[in-house]
Amino acid sequence: MNPPPRRVLVTGAASGIGLAIARAFADQGHALMLADRDARVHDRARELAAQGHRAVAHVADLADLDQAVALARAAQATLGGCDVLVNNAGISPKRDGLPPSPLDVGVDEWEHTLRVNLSAPFVLCRELLPGMIERRFGRIVNIASRAGRTFVGPAATHYAASKAGLIGMTRHLAGLYAAQGITVNAIAPGRIETPLSSTSSAAVLEAAVAAIPARRLGRPDEIAAAALYLASDAAGYVTGTCLDVNGGVFMS
Ligand code: NAD
Repeated sequence: MNPPPRRVLVTGAASGIGLAIARAFADQGHALMLADRDARVHDRARELAAQGHRAVAHVADLADLDQAVALARAAQATLGGCDVLVNNAGISPKRDGLPPSPLDVGVDEWEHTLRVNLSAPFVLCRELLPGMIERRFGRIVNIASRAGRTFVGPAATHYAASKAGLIGMTRHLAGLYAAQGITVNAIAPGRIETPLSSTSSAAVLEAAVAAIPARRLGRPDEIAAAALYLASDAAGYVTGTCLDVNGGVFMS
């Protein structure tokens, strides 16, 4: 029996992993709100709608937490509620394709990264959990990173801290809300071929592939498949976990 269609909010859905996740959920018949700071998210939603999917877009800069609150309200109003939240939008600060030394990171840059990668996901969870609690069903999937699981040289300190924080938040919310039919899980991608990963220098990418047991970068659809599983009814007993999708480069 097919699961009922869910109402899904995906952040950072204008490109890369978020767009692949939105497409995968749309293909399964779910209703979507695609959110991004990039206004091209409207084109992405229109493309999905033209294929017969239920998809709308909302532009929000999640570095502004008031816009995160407004996004949650828009998702609930437009979709009629939100059953699945995928916190995917994220930034990975670089200088000339390399992570900045922590010795060169000012507090403004540190706080901006933490706001987009960790505080905005928290605010979206806070705003959307009450509806999930009321309906006794919810799925939250947080897109973390291998850099939040272990030391990754070509990642910045503030990026690693934000993603480790996201994994910690995942576990804590999972424990708090498991009895209400809500699961909260994270995915820790390794290197995935997206616009974000292409900001790394060619030398960094070459070294990365050589170190991956699978000897290739991952694809956005491989992260989307993991998100789809964690949001499914079949994964109702899976909560508080962080799923490593990385070609074997880090095994816990
Ligand atoms: P991407 O840059 O292709 O996509 C990220 C999307 O988030 C973009 O559309 C961007 O506009 C949006 N975004 C960024 N800042 C935003 C803000 N302030 N408000 C709203 N939207 C914002 O990157 P991606 O590779 O698809 O990354 C998606 C997620 O996966 C990120 O959280 C990233 O940290 C994580 N991740 C990616 C990789 C990788 O190798 N690509 C590896 C590990 C984790």
